[in-house]
Amino acid sequence: MEKGRKTEYTVIGAGLTGLTLAFYLQKAGKTVIIVEREERTGGVINTVAEEGFVYETGPNTGVLGNPEIAELFSDLDGLCELETANPLSKNRWIWKSGQWHALPAGFIPAVSTPLFKVRDKFRILAEPLRKKGQDPFETLAALVKRRLGESFLDYAVDPFISGIYAGDPNTLVTRFALPKLYNLEQNYGSFIRGAIFKAFVARDDRDKKATREVFSARGGLKMLVNALEKAVGTGNIIKGCQLVSIRPAERGFITEAGGGRVTVSSDKVITTTGSYTLPALLPFIPQEKLLPVTRLRYAGVVQAIAGFKNWNGRDLNAFGGLVPSKENRPVLGILFPSSIFAGRAPEKGALLSVFLGGMKNPGMIEKSDAEIGDIVKEEIRETLQAVKGEPELLRVFRYMHAIPQYERSSEERLTCIDELQGRYPGLILAGNIRDGIGIADRVKQGRNLSKQYTP
Ligand SMILES: Cc1cc2nc3c(=O)[nH]c(=O)nc-3n(C[C@H](O)[C@H](O)[C@H](O)COP(=O)(O)OP(=O)(O)OC[C@H]3O[C@@H](n4cnc5c(N)ncnc54)[C@H](O)[C@@H]3O)c2cc1C
Repeated sequence: MEKGRKTEYTVIGAGLTGLTLAFYLQKAGKTVIIVEREERTGGVINTVAEEGFVYETGPNTGVLGNPEIAELFSDLDGLCELETANPLSKNRWIWKSGQWHALPAGFIPAVSTPLFKVRDKFRILAEPLRKKGQDPFETLAALVKRRLGESFLDYAVDPFISGIYAGDPNTLVTRFALPKLYNLEQNYGSFIRGAIFKAFVARDDRDKKATREVFSARGGLKMLVNALEKAVGTGNIIKGCQLVSIRPAERGFITEAGGGRVTVSSDKVITTTGSYTLPALLPFIPQEKLLPVTRLRYAGVVQAIAGFKNWNGRDLNAFGGLVPSKENRPVLGILFPSSIFAGRAPEKGALLSVFLGGMKNPGMIEKSDAEIGDIVKEEIRETLQAVKGEPELLRVFRYMHAIPQYERSSEERLTCIDELQGRYPGLILAGNIRDGIGIADRVKQGRNLSKQYTP
């Protein structure tokens, strides 16, 4: 029975955002209770060990893109260990005209790659001279076409956006979806000039922690979640809470679940769940007032795991391969987790993670496991030359609301969140409805909120 508990902060959701936030609130000396719908923590993060393979059912890797993520691992020292990617898996492949090509990582490969048109390779030389964009709602596709040319959009940015957002560069707005890229143009007038300038700016020790390396936790991302759960204290996490709703009280808020089985009173309540959960969580807010938030669109994603005990296909000496929309194949991309991290497959085997669906192919999520399995096996045979043998392990995972799309409506959503937080002091709407979609963004938000809301 969890009736009548009191705390300073209630956090809704024990995904990476909620756990990180609770961890740092406690470090700041505050009391926190997390209310979680499922019987386990981690949200979309989960690692499974099965038949000699260790695979992720959700995200596979993060990027050390800010100091906060590196600091989280240091703060959890002894509870989990950071594992960075094998340097041999650095290459990213892009599919074009029947074969994989390495995404160029320097000037010479960029000139020689068949991925981009010769015209666009010349065009890029003039990129620093091109005028700065004026439209704050310019889509990523429009920005890239304007500055770099169509073939860069088709064979670099489109597959990159599939890999991160499972999204469509024609609807994602750069200022919200890739703010660092937007600021590069706005602050330096050009991507190339901005990148050169940044390469010469001295970085302090804290900034240097953002190495941009690909990472996981040793043993899988679930180890990070387990460490956070342990640090926060299992007794401070109420799992299996159905029908959660929040209401304002005389002082603060009351969070209720399971028809009154759980009640938690707190000064502040912080949601870290998707926009589509908010109408039920916040019944005291008229639905129309939440519309700018609930309008947020999500990409549905299917992830299929294929494990081979004896890999007989081509060398998987890369991070994985991405498939541009122009190539009209049924998958978004294939990651090679057993090339990226140690211990993910038996010694002679391979573990592949195949992504399908996204904004451009929403029907994929409706397909049966058998249909997905057939597509995946065919793609592996054709693109990775695994001619003999079937995967010994084949698992399919679906996410209806995998990745929020930061589109034009983002401005109204962010304004609405600010207004609601102003109207109901102590209510904080967080999670990936704002501040970025990646693992490092989630950790940074959790850490920042813990600072912002602890006097
Ligand atoms: C398939 C997939 C692949 C991804 N790949 C990558 C990647 O490679 N790299 C990367 O950086 N990022 C990736 N991401 C994004 C990243 O994983 C997420 O942004 C991040 O893990 C989200 O964490 P969160 O805590 O904000 O949300 P979630 O993980 O969604 O957690 C929210 C929690 O709230 C709970 N909840 C929901 N509703 C309620 C309710 N009404 N009451 C109580 N609890 C509730 C849920 O059960 C869940 O535990 C991927 C995401 C997906 C889905």
